[in-house]
Amino acid sequence: TDFKSDKQPTWCPGCGDFGTMNGMMKALAETGNDPDNTFIVAGIGCSGKIGTYMHSYALHGVHGRALPVGIGVKMANPDLEVMVSGGDGDGYSIGAGHFIHAVRRNVDMSYVVMDNRIYGLTKGQASPTSREDFETSTSPDGPNQPPVNPKALALASGATFIAQSFSSNAQRHAEIVQQAVEHDGFGFVNVYSPCVTFNDVDTYDYFRDAIVDLDETDHDPSDRDQAKDKILESEKEYMGVLYQDEDSVPFEEREGVEGSMAEIPDGAPEGAMDLVREFY
Ligand code: SF4
Repeated sequence: TDFKSDKQPTWCPGCGDFGTMNGMMKALAETGNDPDNTFIVAGIGCSGKIGTYMHSYALHGVHGRALPVGIGVKMANPDLEVMVSGGDGDGYSIGAGHFIHAVRRNVDMSYVVMDNRIYGLTKGQASPTSREDFETSTSPDGPNQPPVNPKALALASGATFIAQSFSSNAQRHAEIVQQAVEHDGFGFVNVYSPCVTFNDVDTYDYFRDAIVDLDETDHDPSDRDQAKDKILESEKEYMGVLYQDEDSVPFEEREGVEGSMAEIPDGAPEGAMDLVREFY
């Protein structure tokens, strides 16, 4: 199955988003999905272009609002595989409120965040995950505030799946995203996806040296306390599934919700796909 569109990415050569997207496409194919049943929703930022570069249904929405759109798509047509993608600026600043509520709602979908700790598209301003002392055009002495810890935010909001990945580690990255797709509920993956143009601190070399693969430790992702300790260990960079609730029940399968989803008339998705092809 080919999830790659014929559009050439305009990302800077070497951008981490290439590896992040390749892993997403591989994970979708490995889980038996194809472009006709997959819907990518993206926000604004360099990451937001992904819906053009992938061959599937896609929507490039407004800044920070990709998650509620993705939830709406899934609620309207539960048969679709919905993957929402965005960046740290998009998801953890203007989109932070949506993030918390998407996590606690636990709709069966995945959310892949390309975290490069900088605003790339607007040319290098401090983002919510920028280091406290990172000198940028908008913070010449550093932001002087601690970065948002999205995994801690997710855990505190009742997440059922939290993972950390690294775009440069192709095989592991695809496996981690695959686990998020296969998870029964909201599969959240934060991906270190270096910006080679505007971030000279959180580089490939930094992550390669710093990252500890959880698969090489005795970490038990079903243990919430272990997950909490690792997530709050600010001096360490972990890669792998930090937390997974094996008993997770997706929102749409909960008593009182099941059966209340919208019914799509027969044949509508087929016609819609033809329209999308014609448009592009
Ligand atoms: Fe990638 Fe940074 Fe270039 Fe954007 S500005 S495409 S994040 S390298």
